[in-house]
Amino acid sequence: MPTQLSIVIPVYNEEETLSEMFARLPATFDSIPDLQWKAIFVNDGSRDRTVAMIEEAHARDARFTLIDLSRNFGHQAAMSAGLAHADGDVVAMMDGDLQDPPEVIPKLLEKWREGYQVVYAVRRKRKEGLIKRTAYAMFYRSMKAIAAIDIPLDAGDFCLVDKAVAQAMAALPERNRFLRGLRSWLGFKQIGVEYERAQRFAGATKYSLRKLIRLALAGYVGFSSMPLRISAWIGLLAAFGGFCVLAWALIARLSGSPIPAGWTSTMAVILFLGGTQLLMLGVIGEYLGN
Ligand code: UDP
Ligand code: MG
Repeated sequence: MPTQLSIVIPVYNEEETLSEMFARLPATFDSIPDLQWKAIFVNDGSRDRTVAMIEEAHARDARFTLIDLSRNFGHQAAMSAGLAHADGDVVAMMDGDLQDPPEVIPKLLEKWREGYQVVYAVRRKRKEGLIKRTAYAMFYRSMKAIAAIDIPLDAGDFCLVDKAVAQAMAALPERNRFLRGLRSWLGFKQIGVEYERAQRFAGATKYSLRKLIRLALAGYVGFSSMPLRISAWIGLLAAFGGFCVLAWALIARLSGSPIPAGWTSTMAVILFLGGTQLLMLGVIGEYLGN
């Protein structure tokens, strides 16, 4: 029995890259022995010719298939929808702009054949502007520092997983998804494979700054309760400050040094009460985190 490979590809207004995609998938996979492949394009509410082009491709070659979402739900949701419909023995996830070169997938497939159930691609170099590169580097490193699980550095959603993992991933109830985190969290036998991330083949990024920030927040909130603790720490500091001011005022009064009237008690009360409130917010945060 040949291995069945499903390739999930979310697409949002990608009419400029699709022809190249339709050419490169067969060029990459047709020569691999004992492999049957199928591409599952998930249209994420495109307003250009994306759907028409995939339908035309399907008429020519039934291995190009389409899931058409009712509106734009975002990359992570589109990927998840495709994942839920992938029925191969092994499932690849890649972007539709050819930044994740399909030619890398055979290398991932080799690792799967060696017995790994999750093979994620790790980008060696990023061909983006300095600002975006710095932001990504900071995000991944801060995530590593505060996350409760070990998320590999510089690994995006580009990966290949065993059917068992794909099913487990699709079954997770998270709405606000951070797939690369969920993938780490799931466990199984995992390994990273380095690759050179390409430039977007054509067109502009479909990830607006707002969508990127939402993705980063999904990562932080989904995998760390550190932010919940921040208020507790600030509160503790402020309450301690209030306590110190009070102690200082008491000593000054007893030793007869002059202190400005009214100022000390006001400061002490503000610091102490503010601090206690923040501390209690932190306590609520802890329960929420649990
Ligand atoms: N995408 C999507 N829905 C969106 C935004 C993006 O399905 O709301 C797709 C897009 O078509 C591409 C992939 O997700 O195939 C990654 O997006 P993009 O390349 O624009 O992101 P970047 O690589 O710039 O972060
Ligand atoms: Mg891209």
